[in-house]
Amino acid sequence: MLVSAAESGVTGFMVPGISLESSLNAAFLSETRAGVYAAAGIHPNEFNPDSPDSPDDIPEILLRPRVIAVGETGLDLYRKRTSVELQIEVFKKHIRLAEAFGLTLIVHSRNAEREVLDVLGDDVAVPVIMHCFTGPDDTALEAADRGYYIGFAGPMTFDKNRRLRDLAGSLPPDRILIETDAPYLSPEPLRGRRNEPSNVKYIADAISEIWGRDPSMTAGTLMKNSLKALQLGPTRRTDLVYLLYGNIYMNITGRCTNRCRFCIKERTDGIGGYFLKHHGEPLEGRLESIIESLSPRMGEELVFCGYGEPTMRPELLRKLAGSASDRGFSVRLNTNGTCLSWLSPEETAELLEPFDTVSVSLNTSCREEYNTVCRPADENAWDRLMEFIELAGRAASVRLTAVRYSGVPMESVKELAKNLGLPFRIRG
Ligand code: SF4
Repeated sequence: MLVSAAESGVTGFMVPGISLESSLNAAFLSETRAGVYAAAGIHPNEFNPDSPDSPDDIPEILLRPRVIAVGETGLDLYRKRTSVELQIEVFKKHIRLAEAFGLTLIVHSRNAEREVLDVLGDDVAVPVIMHCFTGPDDTALEAADRGYYIGFAGPMTFDKNRRLRDLAGSLPPDRILIETDAPYLSPEPLRGRRNEPSNVKYIADAISEIWGRDPSMTAGTLMKNSLKALQLGPTRRTDLVYLLYGNIYMNITGRCTNRCRFCIKERTDGIGGYFLKHHGEPLEGRLESIIESLSPRMGEELVFCGYGEPTMRPELLRKLAGSASDRGFSVRLNTNGTCLSWLSPEETAELLEPFDTVSVSLNTSCREEYNTVCRPADENAWDRLMEFIELAGRAASVRLTAVRYSGVPMESVKELAKNLGLPFRIRG
């Protein structure tokens, strides 16, 4: 199926979940097939009070590297397998999760467009996709006015569905997405057969005709819309939380006072399939909401790091680490250990209170080497680093690391760690 899609020019796939199991399968598929991304959610028709699936378990899946949306979620007043009240409650939980993680929300709506708009309100903080839209025109126009994306699938190509084609023609082009909803809703001329991603070309052709545009121009616009809706492309969403080596990492800043010659930031935008580069500093409220949705069963430790130096946001760091500790996490700080350059010893001791473990990047064995290789803003940073190691040892279990770098003789770094009497690990 993926091969036939590729032959039709389809290079990217969004696979939403409808239950915990299908969301996990989608996440797995996304990690094993190029171009595939996943969404995690519980469909309104899949949820019932006796189901073992709970929206509280979704964050565990959202931590995976290529899960970039929450969904399908929403309301279904056509099948109504559960009460409206319960559907709304579960839908609201999905909205909160999407906002906390900064993920796009993929909304299912059947005979419930007005209710969906009411529940969403007009200030959802993430992109919203009204998936496979077939609802009334006024709700589509209102959704587009709010900045939501309207997804059109096979039904818009059906002969009798002139209305949906007219609706697509009346919406701003930058709000329109196309999709298949495979394996359902095959477009004309394939109705009745199993749908698959390659058939999205039929929807693209229908949009081309409506817009009166060349198919390649249409494809360009629709691709741009998809990248924006899913927060991919040049302004890709930053992963603020991610799962690696069985631990949960929280990426709280992009700033650093060092300019290490080996810094990964100079070479790549992330690790392990996660996009960690920041476009600006992440909002405090968002980081707090993420922690509130996590539980210690999702990862052994909660590690505060950055695509930068986390102690550059000391108050926030202490607050977040305190909340994580209160939630039962074993909490670790990954730091370059130079914060005594901008914090007093008292402030530093206070900052370290919630931490169980502090991992300090030693990287070199002396001041001169440190200034040459790590290029700190403060030329006395090495002395501050040594003081920090001593101070951190009074609050938490300390371990040292060093990145393997050709300009540093690792034996001397190892020797220093041994003299300090602390566990040491070479990285990279
Ligand atoms: S301390 Fe870490 S984040 Fe900062 S420059 Fe060095 S390697 Fe990069």
